[in-house]
Parts: sequence; structure tokens; C-alpha cells
Amino acid sequence: MTDLTLADAGVESPPDGADDGVWLACIDCDWTGAPFEEVRYRCPDCDSLLEVRYADHPSLDDFADLTERGVWRYADALPFESGVSIEEGDTPLYEVPTIEDEVGVADLRVKHEGMNPTGSFKDRGMTVGVRVAEELGVGRLACASTGNTSAALACYGARADTQVLVLLPAGKVAAGKVAQASLHGARILEVDGNFDACLDIVSDLADRGEAYLLNSLNPFRLEGQKTIGLEILEQFRDQTGDLPDRIVLPVGNAGNTAALYKAFREQVAAGSLTPEEVPALTGVQAEGAAPMVEAIEEGNDEVRRWDEVETRATAIRIGNPVNAPKALPGIRETGGTAVAVSDEEITDAQRSLARDGVGVEPASAASVAGLRKLRKAGEIAADEQVVCLTTGHLLKDPDAAAAAGAEPEPVPADTDGVLDHLGESE
Ligand SMILES: *Cc1c(COP(=O)(O)O)cnc(C)c1O
Ligand SMILES: [Zn+2]
Repeated sequence: MTDLTLADAGVESPPDGADDGVWLACIDCDWTGAPFEEVRYRCPDCDSLLEVRYADHPSLDDFADLTERGVWRYADALPFESGVSIEEGDTPLYEVPTIEDEVGVADLRVKHEGMNPTGSFKDRGMTVGVRVAEELGVGRLACASTGNTSAALACYGARADTQVLVLLPAGKVAAGKVAQASLHGARILEVDGNFDACLDIVSDLADRGEAYLLNSLNPFRLEGQKTIGLEILEQFRDQTGDLPDRIVLPVGNAGNTAALYKAFREQVAAGSLTPEEVPALTGVQAEGAAPMVEAIEEGNDEVRRWDEVETRATAIRIGNPVNAPKALPGIRETGGTAVAVSDEEITDAQRSLARDGVGVEPASAASVAGLRKLRKAGEIAADEQVVCLTTGHLLKDPDAAAAAGAEPEPVPADTDGVLDHLGESE
């Protein structure tokens, strides 16, 4: 079991080759290595996950005077000064008064990651990941995807003028996402299998040197996604003068859970937060794809792979969350929890968010559905200040939105006919 504690962001002992104060370290053994000399996704000694380490960490106060916006505002906490960018990050933190009242918490805000350039938080990881790919000089970028990773990689790869290969589970990707990957010019392979099978294949291709892997197994993607956590701390403090007690987020591969935890560990190391001030990370999965919830509920150190997964929230239809070894300590060390919600609860939450003016895809609404469920069960208290993360935009999955929303009504093409129709239906 990994020992990623809140009190340790791993700043000891940079290895040879970490000239700029950046290196890679295994989360399970003592291996460390230079970051850009060789392509690596896993520890060469024990095959565990790698994470990016830094000689020092900027504090929240160091960012306060910066005028830059978006992911690269936090360049001092990232491996590079800049990257292939289309102005990702700097997403809104909305008040949602109706849901706040109905759920009954002291304060509720929604961090809407659907407002990124390609409509999901995946852009934050790609701006950093594609920059690293340039540094390594690789010729082809690849990912397995439930949809949004492929849309983001296709877009950033196009911008970087690099070939992109994406593997998608056939028939299980929302229409908007396939359209994005297609128009941005990725080569799209539809695999007769689920997401986990796609990831197995693309990992093999990467190991054989066929492509550079940009799934969240890639530790540099999580560096970009860390900025969600930094933005939440800054925005919540600006808006309320305080810090949130809890962050509730949907969990697929658990990359975001791992990335937020890393952001907070580094802020504890920088002295901006005490361990007690770190928001409780609370993960939400769909009932049909809930291996992380199972591990949290049963107190297991490892997550059991679910071979059969099903949910309307296709972005989190994942049975083998690769970042579980980083995310489980994140949930436990911050005093968080995990919960599973039904597809009906997800659709209800999608409608509630829409009523407060926030349009999201189903996976995103899982966060609000999870909050509602945990509040009802008394596991979240009435005096808590909560941020729900909504990960992707409504237009990503137009079919789900149309199914959850109002039916269009056919009318004749004249005003009297329209008035008649309106009169009849009153
Ligand atoms: C990728 C994605 C998720 C899952 O995020 P993880 O970091 O893999 O847990 C959730 N929602 C949306 C919309 C996504 O695109
Ligand atoms: Zn190792």
C-alpha cells in the first residue's frame, strides 16, 4: 500500500538529471529518475505508478499577484513555463442557490469544468502532456478514451501538429465527443470492447514504442489537472473569504482525485494549508461502475477490477481505475468518502443543475447526486461548505440531455396555430 501522506509532498533527494528541480518518483518504492530522458509511464523497478516531484512548491500567496489566467498561471507548480495552449482552465465557480437550499448545506458552489476549450477538464492535462511529448520528441500521441480524453487530445495534437490515435469503446461514446475527435483530425479506432480493454491495448502499443500515451496513467497529465485544486482554493477564498470543507467529484480512472490530492499535499508542503484545512475529497461513481466505492466501503488497500460495467454516465463507465493507488490515500487522508449513485439519481441531478443554469453531461451530475445522497444519509453535515466538480459540458452528450429534458412540440407554421396550441396546452 502506498504511503502518500498529507504531510509529505516528497521534496527530499532529487536524482541526477533533475537539473530544473523536477523529477519522477515511484509512489511505492525508492526509485527516482530524470523526467525527460526516456519515455516512462511506470516504475522500472516495481511497475507501480510514477509521480512528478519538485524541489520546492509555490504557495497560494505566491500566485495572488499574478495577472495570467488559466493553467499556466500556475507554471511555478508545473514542469514547464508554458505549453501548447488554447486558454484552458480559469473555469467559473458558480453559486447554485436552488440546489444549496434543497440539499441543505451552509454553502454550495459548482466548479464547471465543462467551460474549458473542448468542454471538459481533460484540456488541463493535455496542455501539459503535449508539452512533455514535444520535449521527448515523440512522433505520435495516443489514448484510450470514454470520449473526452480523445476530444482533448485530438484538439491539442492538431494544435501541436502531431499525429493522434484514439481507441474508443464502440457504441459507448457520446456523440459530441466522437464529433470533436473526428473534426480535429484524430485517427479513431472503435474497439469491440469496453474502455478498460481499450486502455490495455493502447498501453501495449505505448510499451512497444508505437505512440506516446496520454491517458491519466501519464503522470504529467495529472500535473495540469492539479490546477483545478489551486483554482478552487483561490476562487472560493475570493468569493467567501474561506476555504471549502469538502470537494465532491465524479470518479472514473480517479485521475482528478489523485491530482487534487497532489495539489493539496504540495500546498501543505508550501505552508498555505494545514493538513486539517485540506478539503475532504469525496468521490462519486455510478452504481454500475463502482470499484473505488467498493474499496472504500470494504476498507481494502487495492481496488478489485470490475469486468462488467454499465451506466448512462459514459465518461465514468470504467471498471479498473488506474489511478486508484494515488486516489485511495487521497480520499482517506483528507477524511473524505466515496458513494455510488443510480442512473436515475444522476439524471435528476442533471436536471437540478440545469434549473440553476449549469448545463452538464451525465457523469458531471454524479457529483451533485452524490452530495444529495450523502447529505440525506447524514454523512455530510448541514454546516459544511462544499464544492461540486462538474467535469464536462451538456453538449458533449446531446442525446442524454434531450432524453432528460422537455419534449419539443410540433406546431403549424402560423401564429394563430401557435396560439391555439399554447391555449390548448394551458
Ligand atoms: C474523464 C472524465 C471523468 C473521470 O475523471 P477521472 O479523472 O478519470 O476520475 C469524469 N467526468 C468527465 C466528464 C470526464 O470526461
Ligand atoms: Zn517502484
